[in-house]
Amino acid sequence: MPELFDLLSKFYGSRRVWEEVEKELRKENMSTKRFHDPFTNLVIGILSQNTSDRNSTRAYINLAKRFQITPKVLVEAPLREIKSAIRCGGMYNLKARRIKQLARIVLKKYGGDLKKLIKLPVGKVRKELLSFPGIGQKTTDVFIGYCMKKDSLPIDTNIKRVARRMGIVGKKAKYEEIQKALSKLTPKGKKLRTHELLIRLGRDFCKVRRPLCEKCPISSMCKKVIS
Ligand code: SF4
Repeated sequence: MPELFDLLSKFYGSRRVWEEVEKELRKENMSTKRFHDPFTNLVIGILSQNTSDRNSTRAYINLAKRFQITPKVLVEAPLREIKSAIRCGGMYNLKARRIKQLARIVLKKYGGDLKKLIKLPVGKVRKELLSFPGIGQKTTDVFIGYCMKKDSLPIDTNIKRVARRMGIVGKKAKYEEIQKALSKLTPKGKKLRTHELLIRLGRDFCKVRRPLCEKCPISSMCKKVIS
């Protein structure tokens, strides 16, 4: 049976996953390169919680237009102005508080520069990030993948849905179990690309309502556990 990664790679080629996000940023003359900056990456992680890419991108653009995304600037920024900038991203009260808390921690523990953190071993970084308020497993794995350039397979809601429907985990499987099961199907060094391809697949074919199984590129290896 062809492997998951091979099927997805063959189908999508080098197509970029974040093309909609990139388009939005380009309209504002903003570059996606800043997503690789460790502090910005965590801020985006907070903004992306429980909302669509479109809304979180809009929230990020509004925030970046009003403030420089640095710990020093955001720690001094009035909370109500952060809230107002990110309002379109949902849960803005909580997210604004978390951004302030993050900025405070990064300033206090790292002198405002997370480049020191990314030089540490992955295990230590994971432990440290998970101790920050509002930073969960997915944001941590995204950070490890994109900022530390390590092989990492963050699991988002699209990927959870695909893995459950494929039948490689049960319906109630949690984050680590899904990550482990998918990692077994992923060639070494390809986890981050698999993460991107599975997100694309979830959006394009394995939709929440009415999955397009007949057109899906991984149909041959999927048990289609849909209910
Ligand atoms: S075959 Fe259907 S259920 Fe399986 S991943 Fe594709 S769209 Fe989802």
